[in-house]
Amino acid sequence: MKGKKETIRSIAVMTSGGDAQGMNAAVRAVVRTGIATGCRVYAIREGYQGMVDNNICEMDWEDVSGILQLGGTSIGTARCHDFRERDGRMKAAANLIAAGIDRLVIIGGDGSLTGANQFRQEWPELLAELVRRKIIDVETMNDFPELKIVGLVGSIDNDMANTDMTIGADSALHRITEAIDALSSTAHSHQRIFVVEVMGRNCGYLALMSGISTGASYVFVPEFPPEDGWEKRMCELLSTARKAGRRDSIVIVAEGARDRHHNPITSNYIKEVLDKGMGMESRITILGHVQRGGAPSAFDRYMSTACGAEAVSELLEEKAQDESKIVVLQNNRIKTASLMDSVQKTRAISDCIKNGEYKQAMELRGSNWNVMSKILETMCLAMPPEHKKHSKRIAIMTCGWPAPGMNDALRTAVRIGLANGYKMLGINNGVEGLVNDEVKEFDWMDVEDLNGRGGSQLGTNRKIPAGSDFLYIADAIIRHKIKGVLLIGGWTGYQIAQQINRMRPKYSAFDMPIVCIPASINNNLPGSELSIGSDTALNTIVEAIDKIKQSADTAHRAFIVEVMGRYCGYLALMSGLATGAEFIYMHEKGVTLEMMRKHLKKLSDSFNQDDRSVALMVRNEKANSAYTTDFMCRLFDEASGDLFDVRRSILGPIQQGGKPSPFDRIQAARLAYEGMNQIFTRLKTRKTESVFIGQRGGKTSVHPVAKLHQMASPAVQRPHKQWWEDLVDMTTMLAIRPQ
Ligand code: ADP
Repeated sequence: MKGKKETIRSIAVMTSGGDAQGMNAAVRAVVRTGIATGCRVYAIREGYQGMVDNNICEMDWEDVSGILQLGGTSIGTARCHDFRERDGRMKAAANLIAAGIDRLVIIGGDGSLTGANQFRQEWPELLAELVRRKIIDVETMNDFPELKIVGLVGSIDNDMANTDMTIGADSALHRITEAIDALSSTAHSHQRIFVVEVMGRNCGYLALMSGISTGASYVFVPEFPPEDGWEKRMCELLSTARKAGRRDSIVIVAEGARDRHHNPITSNYIKEVLDKGMGMESRITILGHVQRGGAPSAFDRYMSTACGAEAVSELLEEKAQDESKIVVLQNNRIKTASLMDSVQKTRAISDCIKNGEYKQAMELRGSNWNVMSKILETMCLAMPPEHKKHSKRIAIMTCGWPAPGMNDALRTAVRIGLANGYKMLGINNGVEGLVNDEVKEFDWMDVEDLNGRGGSQLGTNRKIPAGSDFLYIADAIIRHKIKGVLLIGGWTGYQIAQQINRMRPKYSAFDMPIVCIPASINNNLPGSELSIGSDTALNTIVEAIDKIKQSADTAHRAFIVEVMGRYCGYLALMSGLATGAEFIYMHEKGVTLEMMRKHLKKLSDSFNQDDRSVALMVRNEKANSAYTTDFMCRLFDEASGDLFDVRRSILGPIQQGGKPSPFDRIQAARLAYEGMNQIFTRLKTRKTESVFIGQRGGKTSVHPVAKLHQMASPAVQRPHKQWWEDLVDMTTMLAIRPQ
């Protein structure tokens, strides 16, 4: 056989091992980026079995239409025994060469990726043997000197080292959180105990994070097995919480949880312990494959899309590949890492767990993991630990527009404060409440049921203090002996902190730390890459756009969907990327007549030539004050003639409501914890500087409030530099077939 090495480069994409939500988005991105960059792109169906059985087919642009929003993998996946054998891999190599393929994107877990690496290493030997067996000729062997491999990690467990997230983990967390929220409401009514088993053989990510996002009572993960005697301690903790007023108890167990002697901690055993120890029958829910299913979350769609595009550009590098690579996400940036280094580090953690080196396993998981474990430990307590009570009081207020996750931040902040011996106060309705003296003290159980609730329990408004307000505020601070404030809010909140800070020379009461944590669906706050609420809004938009697109399945229709964000295009860009929008309009990039003319031409060509039935444009609410959504809609509708009609949809306040997404709950907990620690440190060291904080580059960033206008433009209320802006071109590249 002769291979068909051509001048045009041929790449193939395959999904393998356990499926994960977001694989389709990655496949779409690989296929379309490949075609857009002039490659022939093939899909290998049914994982390695398809490679062995020659189930390889060339993909066209339309073959990946309409899959972005689907769970599972449209090209199939399987576990394949044949590929584990050398003979199977030889057949696979012959099939690839016959199609002219020597560059592969493998989407799978560490098993699939290890197999891919072995295949790459063996490639020259496999080809030499194919020559010896006279299956290929020497010339063909020389035409295919190396196999290039780039992996994308598809695994709902989030168990791969070197990457912050794997494809499917966020969606699985959505499924778990939805299920536990549902269980909690029935458990609450009947005062029941539920034991919920979630996936995670060697990695407790899903158990730990769902424990935080659902406010669970007790969590078992493989990385930190409980000390002996946990059975008694767990029952005592649950009983104490019951006495304190908790109506429901949820115990989450990762499927790989073990005790200190390596005995599995099964859901059945936990139930047995609880039934006996609590004197009531508990129920078991094993979530199982539900966790793999359903639509991918907004995050899994845009992350997988960006990773797929990066995989192709890595694969097309002209230089020889010295090792197999994987595409990873580190601190919100897409990068590449060594495949085998990542697999080895992942296995090192599993080995630590197997060998009982738990401290090391926790360290290898990284600092964020440790912070989240500490938060969970405190949040699960039935009451604050007994120790010397400080008389110092810290107040919490929520300001600006409500953002989903504000209540989770409040819940964490109150408990972290109480656990550290502070008195915790809540101020109703932002500055208005301070002026009107609406201040109350929080007890441990007052915040018990707050997790996962939309809106703001404290109430919020957008008043910025002026004139005599400062006098009333100073009076309230003195009377309630407030020594520090945690301010959960958006741009308005930051301005309030700035104003109070400015008035320090006049009012000595203001000489106290105010720590702002970013909570705004707009994600427009300096010093922070993801603010509380923005992920929920993004998911709301993405779900709405899915429905809008479906409404025009057979019509020739273009939609312009207007989303919030004020002058910040984050929601527009990310929702466009996650829904396959053709064009995105945002203030950062501007909107011009010329741009609209070009887009109209591209859309018209596409409706004419590609048999397109629906197109999507996402427009930020303040993209351009003259070219409004209404104007653009009428312009496109008129100019497109009979080719397609144009409808607009303004999503409005729906974007600010709803239950917070798991990520927003986790982000709220993390930022509230960091914010409270900033206040504790300031109170201990008697430093009163007011700051805003955020997560940046994987660390907590801290900035004096006086720097607000240096880091962000007050006119458009967004940071000068935004990490996601460069993704805008990728959206159009993946949505419109190149000429
Ligand atoms: P995951 O990729 O989700 O970890 P598996 O570990 O089951 O799933 O691997 C999926 C497939 O990858 C296997 O059925 C097999 O075909 C292939 N594979 C896994 N490990 C190897 C290996 N060491 N050598 C060759 N192929 C492997």
